Amino acid sequence: MKHAIVTCGIIMLGICSMLLGQTESRLELAAMKEAPIVLPADAIASEKYAAEEFQRLWKMVAGQDLAISTSPASGPCIWIGPNAAAAVPVRTDDLGEEGLRISIAPNGIAIAGGRPRGTLYGVYEFFEKYFGVRFLTHDHTHAPPAAFTALTCGQHAFTPVFESRFSSFAETRRNKEFSVRMRCNQVATEAQYGGICKNRTNSHSFFRQIPSKTYGKEHPEYYGLVDGERRWNVDGKDAMPILGNQPCLTNPDVLRIVTESVLEQIEKHPDIPNVSVSTNDNFHYCRCPACAAIDEREQSNAATLLAFVNAIADEVAKKHPDKKIGTLIYQYTRKPPKTIMPHPNVQLQLCTIECSQVRPLTDPDVDINVAFCEDLKEWGRRSKDIRIWTYNTNFYNYLLPCPNLWNIEPNLRLFAASSVRGIYMQGAGNTIGSSMSDLRNYVTSRLLWNPQLSGQELIDEFLNLHYGPAAPPIRRFINLVHDNAVKRGCTKNCFATGADYGIDDEIALATLAAFHEAMQLADSDEVRQRVEKASICAYRAAVEDVWKWIYDVPNERPNKHDEPMPAGTILKTRPYAAILFRLCEKYGVTMWDELVKIETARDYFRKAYRLSDNEPL
Ligand SMILES: [Zn+2]
Repeated sequence: MKHAIVTCGIIMLGICSMLLGQTESRLELAAMKEAPIVLPADAIASEKYAAEEFQRLWKMVAGQDLAISTSPASGPCIWIGPNAAAAVPVRTDDLGEEGLRISIAPNGIAIAGGRPRGTLYGVYEFFEKYFGVRFLTHDHTHAPPAAFTALTCGQHAFTPVFESRFSSFAETRRNKEFSVRMRCNQVATEAQYGGICKNRTNSHSFFRQIPSKTYGKEHPEYYGLVDGERRWNVDGKDAMPILGNQPCLTNPDVLRIVTESVLEQIEKHPDIPNVSVSTNDNFHYCRCPACAAIDEREQSNAATLLAFVNAIADEVAKKHPDKKIGTLIYQYTRKPPKTIMPHPNVQLQLCTIECSQVRPLTDPDVDINVAFCEDLKEWGRRSKDIRIWTYNTNFYNYLLPCPNLWNIEPNLRLFAASSVRGIYMQGAGNTIGSSMSDLRNYVTSRLLWNPQLSGQELIDEFLNLHYGPAAPPIRRFINLVHDNAVKRGCTKNCFATGADYGIDDEIALATLAAFHEAMQLADSDEVRQRVEKASICAYRAAVEDVWKWIYDVPNERPNKHDEPMPAGTILKTRPYAAILFRLCEKYGVTMWDELVKIETARDYFRKAYRLSDNEPL
């Protein structure tokens, strides 16, 4: 044993001195002008794409046109992919699907990673780390020409802490190549992009697996007993199957039907690693004596669910021992049961829907966040496969300033420290241009890849690079909105009115002033357009009184008012409303909130202002 330690020490010394030797040497950029990008003949599609991306980005930063070749040259080379990298020693057998290693030596650069995405992600990591390239938006890549003549030799290795990462904004969802550059692995399925992480986010599933439309009439007992009645025939607001009901989870036929559905899904899609068996999106869980007895005994409504999920997981394991059954730990199932443990092939997707979005999850003064952290910790003791579904927008008001930018970093660090394996960060997925969404997506995506980065530095970096001289007043606006929400003790979750986030006339006017100043400072049409697009949140804040008048309760039908809207509100808001809707049209913003289209909101405004058909807003 002693001998082994001594030997190991000698080897370590050897490696250290080699690395020290390497850090003293440099790779001259000028020596690279004839360097081939070496891609072996057996490279997979994403490694070929990685070589093309290297070629494009190298041209931007080093100004050199490099050729892609299957054979090395006598001078320096760029080796892309595990097999090419065999020419220089870069180990890749321990890197999983996405880990990467970069080696810079006097004779060239090697970038290699695990398959299928490690090498491609390694190329992006290389340009970010060594050349300061930043993928800011789908149409804005900051790739400054190198201000240095040589790279210092050395090695860099990185494996992302989260196996699956999804910054679910339309900005990501609608731009595959950008999503790949941000290393979101849930959008671009094509092989050239390395495909997606196959372990998908677990979502509501019972409405598909045991639809009450199919079984309800004949078997009302399959569905939850609520207020003395089986909820099988749901209509009106609850007509959406996902909102209508929950199955009775102690009914053996329900277990059989859902198990069959899961097995059928696996047989249809044999390459999927996980299947969701999850509650629908409502609180109508079954209160029948059998269900209630388990929940009461275990002091948690997660008890019947987990017992049910475990039973399916056991059945699935008999035929498909490699598959996992995932379930949402959501709302009424958040608290862990006393004794029922998830079986080893069960994965848990915890949701933060109740939590304050204004304060970090780790804030000890916000009870609802403290409760989530306790549940996360408890579930973490019970399972090694925890995933998170969290939120990053205001679903009631996409366009209002949303004071949660400061919390993305601490929240993701909490998840990383809690050994969470995948994150679904739900933003405004069905429209581009929600409140500061370009910035929000940037900060989120970078932190999902590496939660050890600084959120504040990422905010500053984006503002400086994207808005240039117009950045300072935009930063002032962000600080104002965040400071104000904290100062007023706001703790609202992701369903908020302006007042919930502390937005009033004073904040709206300060926000308008900040963007007015930013527009004056913008030094090109391009920057002016970026600022103008971002300013939509200021005009939205300025018309909050109209929206309040239209809706008493967000997402309910607009109230019918016999009286006209107060004249003061009309006078105060009308010019801003006109600009707001014009800018939404100009920049392709199509949704007012998660459900209401911009054109519908515009009609409500027109009615509130009592405009005739020919009158412009
Ligand atoms: Zn029941």
